[in-house]
Amino acid sequence: MDISELSSRLSSGRLFHAYIVTGADADTRMRAGKLIAQAAVCQAERGVPCGVCRDCVKAKRDIHPDIEIVRREKENANHTVDAMRALRARAAVLPNEAKRGVHIIDDADFMNMQAQNAMLKVLEEPPEHAVFILLADNPQRLLETVRSRCETVSLNPEQTLLDPKVEAVARELMEAYVRRDNLGLVRAAQPVEKFIKTELFDLMTALRRETLGRSGTLSETDVERFMEAADSGDKLINANIRGGYVAGELIAELIDRETASR
Ligand SMILES: [Zn+2]
Repeated sequence: MDISELSSRLSSGRLFHAYIVTGADADTRMRAGKLIAQAAVCQAERGVPCGVCRDCVKAKRDIHPDIEIVRREKENANHTVDAMRALRARAAVLPNEAKRGVHIIDDADFMNMQAQNAMLKVLEEPPEHAVFILLADNPQRLLETVRSRCETVSLNPEQTLLDPKVEAVARELMEAYVRRDNLGLVRAAQPVEKFIKTELFDLMTALRRETLGRSGTLSETDVERFMEAADSGDKLINANIRGGYVAGELIAELIDRETASR
């Protein structure tokens, strides 16, 4: 499964109480978990997060009070039964701001039997407002009874997860470019002004992906131009340059100078 599939599953509008996110690498699993969490707190309730409501903004900045990430106390150690009991107690409390409280459990496959049984109790009687997202490299290590209570999201290993909103911007930029539509480029780049650093990096990845996906129809010069624009974008973002300026530079690199000077 890739991001578009995850999006379409989210957009089916059915939110589950518990998910197991597996496949890909740990970073990608965490990003997928955070995307589901954002969808769970988003005020739009459309399944796919709107990206602009107060809850989405806080979720993206990792400062949403109703989204917690439960990590192992020590690396190479299991989640403890006490930690799972504490989680159960926290999950019972009503969320502060959003309609739901989301608990992302990192390395959920690192639980001994006792801890898993404590987790199972939570999953057997989940509080109405709680969503649990278990990130697991090896879900087979989880009890069958735990697994059967979760909706499994298996990520595609070769595909890094990108924000659908960011992917849409990359697509629009490419489409405007192909049409030689300079005004369209400027319009497509507008949301970039408000992008935070991770979204800007994602945009460069999405632009490269968009370019490679169309390499059959684009000229060699066009491919080079996009790849270079993405590379210089990355440099600017690394230097902590803001979205507005990154958007301006992108437009400058992609704009069709012949029609622009007319
Ligand atoms: Zn939202």
